Amino acid sequence: MKHVFDYVIVGGGLAGASAVEGIRELDETGSILLVCGEDHLPYDRPPLSKKLWFGKMKVDEIFLHDQKFYDTHTVTLALGIKSVRLDPVKKTITNNNNTFGYGKLLLATGCKVRTLTIPGGDLADICYFRNLDDYLRIRAVAAEGKSAVVVGGGFIGSELAAALNINKLNVTMIFPGTLLCDRVFPDYLGRAVQGRYVEKGVRVLASEKPVSFSKKGAKFITRTEKGEEIESDLVIVGVGVIPDMELAKIAGLEVGNGIVVNEYLETSNPDIYAAGDNAFFPYQALGQSMRMEHWDNALNQGKWAGRNMAGAHEPYTYQPYFFSDLFEFGYEATGEVDSKMETFADWQKENDTGVIYYLREGKVRGVMMCNVWDKVEMARELIKRGGKTTPEKLRGLIA
Ligand SMILES: Cc1cc2nc3c(=O)[nH]c(=O)nc-3n(C[C@H](O)[C@H](O)[C@H](O)COP(=O)(O)OP(=O)(O)OC[C@H]3O[C@@H](n4cnc5c(N)ncnc54)[C@H](O)[C@@H]3O)c2cc1C
Repeated sequence: MKHVFDYVIVGGGLAGASAVEGIRELDETGSILLVCGEDHLPYDRPPLSKKLWFGKMKVDEIFLHDQKFYDTHTVTLALGIKSVRLDPVKKTITNNNNTFGYGKLLLATGCKVRTLTIPGGDLADICYFRNLDDYLRIRAVAAEGKSAVVVGGGFIGSELAAALNINKLNVTMIFPGTLLCDRVFPDYLGRAVQGRYVEKGVRVLASEKPVSFSKKGAKFITRTEKGEEIESDLVIVGVGVIPDMELAKIAGLEVGNGIVVNEYLETSNPDIYAAGDNAFFPYQALGQSMRMEHWDNALNQGKWAGRNMAGAHEPYTYQPYFFSDLFEFGYEATGEVDSKMETFADWQKENDTGVIYYLREGKVRGVMMCNVWDKVEMARELIKRGGKTTPEKLRGLIA
């Protein structure tokens, strides 16, 4: 294997794989090494909590590219290997015991799962859900009639609870908030969506927390703050993620709520870039810096970073969107979508089909299109235009 690469990409998720495409748009021959701690070709994560459970996709369809793509684009893959050291002065990266030089480096290390620091929170078979291997492990147990405790009422927990219920498992959801997805859904929507979970047979324990896990034979016992004891075949936890900044810290790069990058996706060291779930970047349309844990951002930011590593020097002006599916309720959203903001809902069918506008000081900052599809571009334009508006002006605007 070569010992100096023009480009090294650490992390083989969506951002890392997209960076290969970005580099190759401008540089057809520069050498590329892609290192990934996971033992799989780069794949898409959204199907892990959705389409793979609904029979709409098979595991071999989630890979972003096949091996031939990497061969054709002369990418050296180091899979199942972690980069453990980054020396920004010598411009080297160390994977296990091998050290490689780089011209430009991308940190596309994504996020790590947050774990529960309660007794039994570290039991080996508890699934802190993030990876394909987690899906495969859960899928092997998740048969009709089995039971699952799902901890967490955000998107991962809510999507998995729905997926397991559709697969005829007995599901109990536990989360501390009063309503699921409460960081994003306004109360009225949270109540309606949660009502659907209950109608479908999901047991929803809101305003509740697990205080310990233990095993009784093959079963888990979850004890809750309010004194319940729940027996189940599976415990799956989705309580959020934290940006993986280990290498950035080792290299002394500027970090905060993510690896800090400028509009070109360069870190505080101009030869090192960051993109995807781990990057704290200037979000131009909103005029503020933030970090995003969304598919479309990883896809585009990865590609942009790749192009910039290859010399494009283009500011990241893209405005990403995100999406989710919870039973029959699906949506696409863009901008600042925070349940604490003022909202105006323009329903065609209440709490089911329509558009929610998220406003700050009378200006639209975010838009969620509920069971309304292919309107993201209109929403982007509306946010970009800025200017004060009123519910009267918004009614019927996006439908
Ligand atoms: C189950 C699930 C469902 C999702 N559904 C949606 C959805 O519906 N809509 C949406 O918008 N978003 C969704 N997302 C979020 C979306 O998938 C992420 O935003 C996206 O995967 C981020 O890509 P990334 O490349 O930045 O990071 P990751 O996908 O986390 O990839 C980072 C990779 O880097 C590797 N790595 C880390 N450190 C090292 C190291 N030191 N050495 C080598 N390798 C390393 C990791 O092992 C990992 O493979 C979902 C996420 C999950 C987990």
